[in-house]
This record gives sequence, C-alpha cells and structure tokens, in this order.
Amino acid sequence: MFLNLQKLQEYAQSSMEVKNINNSNEPQLITEGSAKITTSGKVFYNPVQEFNRDLSISIITTFSKRYTKENLIKSNKKSTKNYENISSTDTSIQDNGITILEALSATVYVMQRKYPVLKKIVANDISQTAVRDIKNNIVDNNVEDIVEASHCDATMLMYQHRREKQFDVIDLDPYGCPSIFLDSSVQAIKEGGLLLVTATDMAVLAGNSPETCYSKYGSIPLRIKSCHEMALRILLQCIEAHANRYGRYIVPLISLSADFYIRVFVRIFSGAHKCKFTTSKLSYVYHCTGCDTFTLQPLGILKTKEKQQNVVKFSIPTGPPASQKCVHCGHPHHIGGPIWTAPLHHPDFVVDVLNTASENLATFRRIQGVLSVIKEELMDTPLYYTLEKLCGTIHVETPPMLIIRSAILNAGYRVSFTHMNRTSIKTDAPSNVIWDIMRCWEKKTSCFKKKTYRRHPCI
Ligand SMILES: [Zn+2]
Repeated sequence: MFLNLQKLQEYAQSSMEVKNINNSNEPQLITEGSAKITTSGKVFYNPVQEFNRDLSISIITTFSKRYTKENLIKSNKKSTKNYENISSTDTSIQDNGITILEALSATVYVMQRKYPVLKKIVANDISQTAVRDIKNNIVDNNVEDIVEASHCDATMLMYQHRREKQFDVIDLDPYGCPSIFLDSSVQAIKEGGLLLVTATDMAVLAGNSPETCYSKYGSIPLRIKSCHEMALRILLQCIEAHANRYGRYIVPLISLSADFYIRVFVRIFSGAHKCKFTTSKLSYVYHCTGCDTFTLQPLGILKTKEKQQNVVKFSIPTGPPASQKCVHCGHPHHIGGPIWTAPLHHPDFVVDVLNTASENLATFRRIQGVLSVIKEELMDTPLYYTLEKLCGTIHVETPPMLIIRSAILNAGYRVSFTHMNRTSIKTDAPSNVIWDIMRCWEKKTSCFKKKTYRRHPCI
C-alpha cells in the first residue's frame, strides 16, 4: 500500500512536457484530443496546462451528471424513479442540460469535449483577436449548436447574469490573480452550481509579499513548508467571503495544487443561516519561526447541547492558542490567515471522478495519480509537516518516511501524504508528539552533532 502510494505520488508530481508554446506572432494550429484550435499568435494558449484542462473536463462531467439528477429529483419529475437508475441519456436530462461560461476563454479549449448533459457553452474574452479565433474554431470544429462566442468584459457579462439566466458552471482561469472576478461570479451561478477558479500568482500566495496578498485575497500568507496548501486555503476563504456577502456559501469538491498554479472546484449554495457557520470554518495560523510548528486559532466555534444534538450554538473562541514563545524551541511566532480550515475536498466526489475519468485523455495517468493521493488525504487536518524540514530543524539525517509514519500510527494518530509534496506528513498528532518522535530519532542516529547556536526542539 505504501509503495503504491509512492508510485501514485510520482504520477501526481510529474509535470507535463513543455511543447507547442506559441512565442511567434504567426498563426498556429494546435490539436488537443479531437479538437483543432487555431490561434492568431498573440492569443494566450498554454499547452502545459493540458492536465488542468483534462482534469476540469473530468470534474465537470461528473458534476453535471450529479447536478442534473439532483435538480430532476428536486423538481419531482423523477420522484418515482430511484436516483441511481436515472441515466444520463434520459431525454429529460438532455433537455435540462447545463450551461457553462468560460469567462476568460482566450482559445476555446472545451470544443472537442463531449459533456453528457450539455446545453450551451459561452466562450467569452475581452480581446477582439481572441474572439475572432474562438468564432473560427467554433466553425472548424462544427460546434455552432452548443458553443457561443462572446466579446465582453468578463465581470460585466457575469453581472448581467446575476438575476436571470444564471450559469450552472463558471470557469475562471485568468493569468494571475482571480480576485477581481469573484464578486460577480458568485452571483452569476445557479443554486448548487460549480465554480472553477485558477490562481497563478503563487509568489504572492506562498508568502513572498504578505501585504499584496492581503490586498488581493484578504489574508496573510506565511512562508512555511505547507505554503501550497495554505495558498489553496487562502483562495477558498476569499471565495467564501465573496459568497457570504450575498447570503451564499461554498462547498469545495476538489482543491488542487499543481505545477505553477492552484485550482479549486467549489459548489455555491444559498442560505443565510448556513453563512453563520463560516467563522467556524476559518482560522488564523500561529507559525513558529524556529521549528515550523503551527497552531490554529479558529475564528468561531460551534457548541451543541447533549440533549439537543441538532441545535447548534455559535460562540467566540478564547485564545491565543500558543504562548508568546514556542514551547518546543523558544522562538516567537508569526501570525497568518485567516485561512479555510474545513475540508479541501469532497471524498465521495473524488472517488466518483476517479472512477469515471476517461482513459482516452492524454494526461489520464497523472489524473489518476493525483486523485488517488487526494482520496487518501486526511480531510480534517489542515496543513502539514515535511520530513526534510523536521530533520533540518534538529540537524539529523533524514529517516525513511515509513519509520516516521509508523511511529505516528503507533502513537495512536492518523497520518497521510498530500498531493502537494512527496515528503509531506499530514497528521492529527499534536506537535509535541511529532517532536517526541523526532527526538527519539535524533538520539538513535546522532553519532556526531553539528555545532549549532540556534535553539531547536532537541536542545
Ligand atoms: Zn518552535
């Protein structure tokens, strides 16, 4: 099992070979799957993101089947049928097909994609050249009946759809930060619809410029080893904050960190009462500047009475959760956040996508690798340690991962990898247990001791 996971991690971490990058101003014909895409040279087309596109297609396909069935059951049209027995070829499902907005389309990559329950795709771009290419590509691929080109400012287009003709799926894949599109997108999506958001400004999200990150996402990032997961959690809290303003809230289906970007797939629901739960899904992070230990301070907590389990009382937590100096090494803390600390993925949905992803996709093996690792991730333990950082802090050689994982399991706690880092240790074990284990390893292995003047958990 362990070896299998390592293999899957390799697939998950492998990045696509860079090919076909269009640096010239000459028109270029690109083929991806069964689609032919012509770009006029100045239009942005990124072949490295083929994995991203393939995964998005798999996720939208799985989502659209679930969503359409849910809607049919809600509208009681299928009340006599069993949920599982409703087939995607059912004519009433086809009639109720989904509408997708590619808000920043550039080149319409969805053209070759055959969604089972698709009504219409709106491919929008603000660039006239890009829209001309989109129109040509629609004709070349014979998809005039389902794809519509739109030349508009993406935010304006989404604001026009916030009251009527909302979309079932909106895809935001900007170059850089998506935050300016969030306010309009959370309004232009139907109840239970799917929002796909990409962020490529990883330097900002990973802690290189906390001030810029706060101005864009409303959260302070930290330069920690689990910065990619923190970036995902910052983006999710940002989407949730925008949704909450309109009495809506998010449910993440899959949150992914790959190559040079992060991408989240979230459903948007309405409910003013449910928005009250947001504070209990957010936390500040206390991060020790000496040993990288992190402690979470929730913004809100939920209490239930013993006799009335279904009655929830909201309350404010006490704090701070960490002392002024780290109990392990004596160094001060940095404070970051707030970040999303509810689950990053929906376990059932991940399994669904894994089972239904098409083997014909060029990046199928990588999709399988990433989703298999995601499936095994602990959902209720935000952030993670890395083996090399734990060992680097106390100046010992790195043990095999199996030894540390076994020690954590033997101490009675859970442990998993994450898809973001090969040496990640995601666990519900408290930091004192982790450092106890590392101290044992240090005693066992330190035949020589490096001279160090910096305090750490073994001094
Ligand atoms: Zn410390």
